[in-house]
Amino acid sequence: MKRKSVFQFRKFKPKAAGYNDSQRIRLGVQLFFLVTTLYTGWRFIRFVNYLQNGGAAVTRPPGVEAFLPISSLMGLKYWVLSGDFNTIHPAGLVLFLVFVVIGLLLKRSFCSWICPVGLLSEYLWKGGRRLFGKTLTLPRWLDYPLRSLKYIILIFFAWGIFMNMNVEVLHNFIYGTYNRVADILMLFFFEHISMFALGVILALVLLSVVIKNFWCRYLCPYGALMGFVSLFSPAKITRNPDTCTDCGACTEACPANIPVHSKIRVKSDECTACLTCTSVCPEPDTLALRVYKRKKPLSAGMIAAFIILIFLLFTGIARISGHWKNDISTKEYKSRLQKIEQVDHLN
Ligand code: SF4
Ligand code: SF4
Repeated sequence: MKRKSVFQFRKFKPKAAGYNDSQRIRLGVQLFFLVTTLYTGWRFIRFVNYLQNGGAAVTRPPGVEAFLPISSLMGLKYWVLSGDFNTIHPAGLVLFLVFVVIGLLLKRSFCSWICPVGLLSEYLWKGGRRLFGKTLTLPRWLDYPLRSLKYIILIFFAWGIFMNMNVEVLHNFIYGTYNRVADILMLFFFEHISMFALGVILALVLLSVVIKNFWCRYLCPYGALMGFVSLFSPAKITRNPDTCTDCGACTEACPANIPVHSKIRVKSDECTACLTCTSVCPEPDTLALRVYKRKKPLSAGMIAAFIILIFLLFTGIARISGHWKNDISTKEYKSRLQKIEQVDHLN
């Protein structure tokens, strides 16, 4: 008898016409955030280049602080305890709040609608599936402990911040030397990446080609935070058992490997509200993202409009109220950069 492998390969063929419509809208939102992220990154590289070499003045794009989630978490606790919305990385805190609010209202949609790493991850496994015809599904005994890894990483940071840092310690870190230039240090990390770090990234890329969303599902602490927050979301994928024919197309299509066809409401922290399942369901009005048991489902267009609206509203209010740009002067940035380069030179 042929021995069954512990790893299962899953095949998926989109069956319904709706698949392309709702997924096209989601891709549009993903591309909006990808372009915003790339533009912010490009502007930041030009800003650091201007600090190093002079030339025409370039302003720093505050949105780069979205890449400093630990600093933002500290900023959140510091804001709650002291009432001070920190002036070092205020945009980081604003964006952190935007993503948490979206997670609270629309499940873990951050991962499948906003995050550029989520987009990259998605197209890596889709590319892998096209190449090999299949993706790899880890057995439950391995999948469950690996999924908890991202929560362990999140708890490690959250415990350090919420249990061990009082207002004074938070103030000293947030306004301290390291945090003031954390964005520049992050850029230098990637510009002068070590062979080890490059090897780790390459391994993650390769694993993401054969296993769906490997980084997001098993390792990303931001994904863990969004997964935790999403448990409180009133919107959930909801199945009508009266009209469902148990065809299993939804389960087959779900990138998070959730057995959708056997649930009435999908409560899993892995559901990213990607709407892949609803778009392949052949039965009308059977599977949809619904707020509680409201009759009208949330369409892809409504989710897209809501995400963009929350993003523009929060960032707009932050800009108008002076909580977007930090108060570090270009002169200070130049002087701190010189010190970083002197230390680098000595090493
Ligand atoms: S249950 Fe549906 S919406 Fe949730 S991750 Fe799976 S396919 Fe996407
Ligand atoms: S919800 Fe739709 S796709 Fe899923 S099993 Fe029922 S009929 Fe099939």
